[in-house]
Amino acid sequence: MKNVKMIIRILALMAVIHAASAFTVRAEPCYPTTPFDVYAMQYFTRINTDILTDPGIHVILAGTGMPWFDPIRNPQCIGVIAGGKFLLFDVGDSALKTLDKLNLPINRIDAVFITHYHSDHTNGLGHLISHTWANHRQQPIRVYGPKGIKKLTKGFAKAAKLDIDIRKNFEAFDSNLAIGVPHEFKYPKDGTPVEIFNENGVVVKAFKNDHYDVEISVGYRIEFAGRLVVISGDTMYADSVVQNATGADLLIHEATNMRMAERTACLAETNIPAPHGPGLASRIRRAISHHIDTLEVAEVAAQAGAGKLVLNHIIPPIPETFSFMGGEFDFTVDFIEGMDAIYTGDIHVAKDGASFYLPPAPENTVSGPCEGPCAP
Ligand SMILES: [Zn+2]
Ligand SMILES: [Zn+2]
Repeated sequence: MKNVKMIIRILALMAVIHAASAFTVRAEPCYPTTPFDVYAMQYFTRINTDILTDPGIHVILAGTGMPWFDPIRNPQCIGVIAGGKFLLFDVGDSALKTLDKLNLPINRIDAVFITHYHSDHTNGLGHLISHTWANHRQQPIRVYGPKGIKKLTKGFAKAAKLDIDIRKNFEAFDSNLAIGVPHEFKYPKDGTPVEIFNENGVVVKAFKNDHYDVEISVGYRIEFAGRLVVISGDTMYADSVVQNATGADLLIHEATNMRMAERTACLAETNIPAPHGPGLASRIRRAISHHIDTLEVAEVAAQAGAGKLVLNHIIPPIPETFSFMGGEFDFTVDFIEGMDAIYTGDIHVAKDGASFYLPPAPENTVSGPCEGPCAP
């Protein structure tokens, strides 16, 4: 009996040793010798952190569409890198992937500024927070926004709880970093800007815009090194946007071509059987009632004396080019038609992945659009 117990103990010990050795990772050195090895090395060493030390402002268009699917535009997100800070303005679906494709250091994103609570501006928040946390982000992500930001951040934290519980048991993750830190601010109703962020010389101010019946909605001013970038947020024509964009080096303004949008509504109503066609037409018309026509955007840019204008939140969706009857059509030409008679500066129709660079004053140039980050 004594011998049997001894044998059982020895077998159990051998089983434990075997199991342990099966999980031992061999620490033998290896070197890139195959094409896959080279790819793997490139994948893990591609992130451009040098961009954080550039002296001017990088503006990255990471999401330039709206809720409907657009072939070259995902929902809203503008990245700004200045003074070692990496800031996002709104964070729609797929924004993080677009930023990662540009080899930007997404684990170093400091803060997100939300303009309002339509989902095309907020749906990527959970992805941003959870993905960068699971990939060892070392600092919390601050989430700035008007009234409602605490509720939004808390909601995403609640949705992430099951994931957080799984991961924190696996590795020494700090679960405090797995949830966004809300910074709720108030803003004057008359459009006067309010400072909500001031670090390393980067100043962010929020101002009220006019998103029709969406009561809580703002645009942002970003000031750094004597340069000014203004993001309108979702808005109709608003004097407050003109005031805040006055003297802007770069104005990123939402834009709807009402003639093209109304044409899509009419085509839906006339050519698609009820209830789908008329339903779609009324949804299009209701959506565009909250936005601004391209010709009015030209008025805003002209009145503000903006140096360069980027049209953002493009409605209706338009492809890069469209092939039809042997011809190639570029609908951006139709989209901006008539604007140059009102605003004589550069006009760019945004698409995801393009970027701009503003060197410090006294330079007054704006480089771009570049494919990926512009060289400083
Ligand atoms: Zn929107
Ligand atoms: Zn909106």
